[in-house]
Amino acid sequence: MQQKIKRVPAGGRGSRQKYRGLYPGIACLPVCLINPQLPFLKHIIMAKKQKLGMILSPDTFYYVIPFERPDQKLTREVLDKHFAPPKGRQAYMGIHTEFKGFKYDLVHVAVKLPDNSENMLFLHVGLIELDVACTCGMPDEKLCHHAYMGLHSLAWYDYLQLDRYYWPGITSDEKVKHKFLNLEVKPDWITVKPKLQYGNIFKPNIGFNGGQLPAIEKPSKLENVVVGEKEAIAYCLAYNFGNYSSSHLAVLVPGLGITNKYNNEISSFILFGREDKPIIHLNYTTGQQQLNTIGLQQYQIAKGLDDLPDEGKKQALSKAKQAMITLWEQAIPLLLNEKFTFRYYTHWIKYMRDKPRKANMQNCRFGLEKPVLSFLLKFNQNHFSLRAVVTVNGNTLELNAKPHLFVIDELTDICYLIHSLQDDELLMWMLRNHNRLTVLREHFAEFHLTFLEKLSSCYEVLFYNPKSKKTTIYDFEMIANEINPESDGK
Ligand SMILES: [Zn+2]
Repeated sequence: MQQKIKRVPAGGRGSRQKYRGLYPGIACLPVCLINPQLPFLKHIIMAKKQKLGMILSPDTFYYVIPFERPDQKLTREVLDKHFAPPKGRQAYMGIHTEFKGFKYDLVHVAVKLPDNSENMLFLHVGLIELDVACTCGMPDEKLCHHAYMGLHSLAWYDYLQLDRYYWPGITSDEKVKHKFLNLEVKPDWITVKPKLQYGNIFKPNIGFNGGQLPAIEKPSKLENVVVGEKEAIAYCLAYNFGNYSSSHLAVLVPGLGITNKYNNEISSFILFGREDKPIIHLNYTTGQQQLNTIGLQQYQIAKGLDDLPDEGKKQALSKAKQAMITLWEQAIPLLLNEKFTFRYYTHWIKYMRDKPRKANMQNCRFGLEKPVLSFLLKFNQNHFSLRAVVTVNGNTLELNAKPHLFVIDELTDICYLIHSLQDDELLMWMLRNHNRLTVLREHFAEFHLTFLEKLSSCYEVLFYNPKSKKTTIYDFEMIANEINPESDGK
């Protein structure tokens, strides 16, 4: 029977001296033997030797038991090769073992035998062998009775699983051990686990706890997943600015485009969908079918209005606009689901090109919110000025011009449908007048009676007085008193 015996070189006195010689001699050899392709590991292990912790007396004898299998299990069968097993069941009764601790790489196990002997075993788990010391000192340098009976008793299921005590580079140093590991010492077992924040800790020649590392293969290329450069439908708000004779009602027009390679933008436009040339070869969603129908209805309204002579146009405008607002109210919730929405500036609806001009196409979104119209009156020395103010969610929009039916927030590119026909007419009238009505002070009473009184009963009109620098709700009586010419200079 082969036994490997090691003696500790003299390095200090007493059981708490720092030990500097035992484990490197034990540990480096198996690594090199097991995996000759990793000779460099020897240097790593040798470098650790200065850090090995405090253990027993430096000349403590350790008996070495090779595991004879790769998983750091000590079987009773192997154990029996190192000690002549006592005969009869009686010999194995009344053995008491108790785990006491795990310090400086050593598992401490108290062993009490029926002969009343009490000893402590010190187990050092290597990669391919177990080193055992006993407080009896094993005087004849053979595995002692205490160690054999203790290990036999610990091997509940015919083997002793020792990999849990194998933490190269960690458990030899108490500070490092406490940093990385949680230890729970119970009489019947010791649990050693990495602290949660360290997850799973790599062990040389073993890897990570829990078996094999996941197999990694080169992933297949994703090129087939990209589905860009496809035909797609884009919905365009076709609009323009101008006066009664030149501006047409804003209409929804579907357009056929080609997406870019990422499929997130339209890179080119092919044609507009119209009644006489519909885009029929695409698979439309239900919402898109509704939008196409709405677009056709709107086009007919706008075109019909456009074809009228100027006088007839003025008469028909209100009715046409109201019908158009109703259609847009149906369209906007559907447009919010569309990926590609644009606004398209077009000079004449009846001469709309077949192929959209990309330079006139601008990304836009539609907002569900309705713009709120209000007015601001100011007094300026000898005259009053009135402006229209449009807010959405409390934010004032900067407006210089607007198409029929919509206000466009130039900052966010969001198009908002106007709240009512009257709002649209009032706002367009104001914008046609550069959003400023000027009234001399002496004409103000008449302006109030003919216009402002009615306006302020239907819309919020605020009054800003530059003298007091205060803004208040418009009140004719108050203003008449405050802006009294006779009060000037006081
Ligand atoms: Zn002993």
